[in-house]
Amino acid sequence: MLVNKLKSLNNVTIHTHAQTTEITGDGSVVNGIRFKDRASGEDHHVELEGVFVQIGLVPNTEFLKGSLELSKFGEIVVDAKGHTNLPGVFAAGDCTTVPFKQIVIAAGDGAKAALSAFDHLMRTPVAA
Ligand SMILES: Cc1cc2nc3c(=O)[nH]c(=O)nc-3n(C[C@H](O)[C@H](O)[C@H](O)COP(=O)(O)OP(=O)(O)OC[C@H]3O[C@@H](n4cnc5c(N)ncnc54)[C@H](O)[C@@H]3O)c2cc1C
Repeated sequence: MLVNKLKSLNNVTIHTHAQTTEITGDGSVVNGIRFKDRASGEDHHVELEGVFVQIGLVPNTEFLKGSLELSKFGEIVVDAKGHTNLPGVFAAGDCTTVPFKQIVIAAGDGAKAALSAFDHLMRTPVAA
């Protein structure tokens, strides 16, 4: 929906299949971005005056494959209290299925997962 709104703006150009290869500058300020068209393999350079970088959408959870349930995006599946599918293992923050990846949410979820871990330990009998 946002893409369609942007398409209707005559001062916005959308580049799809773009793999950024370089942010160019004149030694003092940014003056462009170079990217490869993944579909055609062609290299392009767009002149511009600023760059906003959005990163971090793919969680670094590869190592958990086979141990914890992950979503199709690689997020750790958690319930409302931060429980994973493995009893005694809790998760919080951007790497989980929690909607909206924001600092305040990650911090709150961290507190929630810590309280759930405390609750879990309180209810777990100590081995004699
Ligand atoms: C460019 C950008 C701008 C943002 N702007 C805002 C904003 O304006 N406002 C806002 O609220 N949120 C913003 N966010 C989102 C915010 O940064 C995150 O929601 C928040 O940092 C999530 O906290 P986290 O602790 O879950 O994960 P992170 O802050 O990503 O912390 C995870 C940590 O785990 C480490 N790690 C990863 N893998 C391993 C491993 N295998 N072993 C050990 N350590 C590991 C990482 O190095 C990292 O230090 C922005 C994010 C980005 C990328």
